[in-house]
Amino acid sequence: MTTDGALVLFSGGQDSTTCLAWALTRFARVETVGFDYGQRHRIEMKVRLDVLSAMQARFPGWKPKMGEDHVLSLDVLKQIGGTALTGAMAIEMGADGLPTTFVPGRNVMFLTAAAALGYRRGIADLVGGMCETDFSGYPDCRDKAIVAVSEALTLALARRVSVHTPLMWIDKAATWSLAEELGGTALVDLIRDETATCYEGNRVRRHEWGYGCGVCPACDLRAKGYMKYISR
Ligand code: ZN
Repeated sequence: MTTDGALVLFSGGQDSTTCLAWALTRFARVETVGFDYGQRHRIEMKVRLDVLSAMQARFPGWKPKMGEDHVLSLDVLKQIGGTALTGAMAIEMGADGLPTTFVPGRNVMFLTAAAALGYRRGIADLVGGMCETDFSGYPDCRDKAIVAVSEALTLALARRVSVHTPLMWIDKAATWSLAEELGGTALVDLIRDETATCYEGNRVRRHEWGYGCGVCPACDLRAKGYMKYISR
């Protein structure tokens, strides 16, 4: 098995696009995987392709390293339902103390599916944008959970599975700074203008920090991070 490749969990948002750039500066070959789980921000599936095209067009040095893009269906998450990301439900605090945007088991399933795909593709290194610093309280974004899942997958596949989380300990402002380090202002511009973070999938309202409804928690976090980044 080759060890020079990476598989990036790629949704077309700010975090996973930064992770993609991070992987492109470290690995010889980088593939991407997206998950269709009935998310209400359907635009994600289109945006991620637009972001990949923009990366290839604006970063000719990275283009030859960019391998196949995969989309896997995880309909089971919508079938189980009960979240604001997979059904018509208000985005608010739930009775469990977590936002209704929490999709139980999502990252565990994403990583399991990505590791299985990596197994087929000869890729042991997965890269994901999980972050415990600015995270919305999602327990499956915590480092301890991610490390435990990668250990479980390594045992279950009898093959090394490493999960790299370059954003784990940095906030949203630092994520913008990391993008600048990796790809200069050209990457910052690309991320600001092409990526979608908004839970509502709003691509109509343009703000200083990019497109989004400007109201949902994802927009709020992105806006605050960008403002902190540009005022540093
Ligand atoms: Zn929004």
